[in-house]
Amino acid sequence: MNIVITGGSRGIGAATVRLYAARGDTVSFLYEKEHEAAQVVSRETGARAICCDVADARAVSRAFSEIGPVDVLVNNAGICHYGLISQITPDEWRRIFAVNVDGAFYCIRAALPSMLERQSGAIVNVSSMWGQVGASCEAAYSATKGALIAFTKALAKELGPSHIRVNAVAPGVIQTDMCSGIASEVLESLREETPIERLGTATDIAQAVAYLADAPFVTGQILGVNGGFVIT
Ligand code: NDP
Repeated sequence: MNIVITGGSRGIGAATVRLYAARGDTVSFLYEKEHEAAQVVSRETGARAICCDVADARAVSRAFSEIGPVDVLVNNAGICHYGLISQITPDEWRRIFAVNVDGAFYCIRAALPSMLERQSGAIVNVSSMWGQVGASCEAAYSATKGALIAFTKALAKELGPSHIRVNAVAPGVIQTDMCSGIASEVLESLREETPIERLGTATDIAQAVAYLADAPFVTGQILGVNGGFVIT
């Protein structure tokens, strides 16, 4: 199968690249800045690394024209923003939507023609538990992740008759670079609040992504992978 993962150079995306490569799939991943990390993942897995800002519609079209027909698209690339709503600037607001929401739209738009032609395919969007319940001081991030949830549900209805399934994972607190700015005492209290009594790993999320992409009768679902931190 031909798998495309955005944000594959680090964290959850890199774990997803590793999982699919170990299954023998053909994997391509997009990344933005971390060339060295991308090369490490690419050398280790044999996956093709493509430097492409998902917020750039033209660059995304070019990248997908190199990749060819897509069986599974994982929209994982994302950025976060911490701060009070009164402190976020319009440029910061636009950038987080451009990467987290527009990026998913551009990649889906680029992957869809080959899926529609073959009447098969699976799309998995990486949302967040904050997209489900909202996080204080992460209003912009929560809004983008909530948008991905609505986008997932709408597309599942629209694309179901074309045998294309669309689902999302909503991770809890996962130990990646994205959490590196969070103080260790805060991480420890988040761990204590988690019924499973640990923080998540990138592999926890990669496994959920692969499940959703494989499951033939599952579409339009938002799978919380958060150790029980949020139970909706
Ligand atoms: P990391 O910061 O570890 O990795 C982010 C990845 O996204 C990197 O590969 C990065 O590329 C890529 N990326 C960022 N911006 C762009 C862009 N404009 N174009 C292309 N690629 C881009 O994050 P995580 O692995 O933790 O997060 C992955 C996803 O999971 C995100 O959508 C995040 O919101 C979501 N998530 C994470 C949680 C967590 O606790 N970690 C919790 C809930 C959801 P590069 O290396 O080149 O910068």
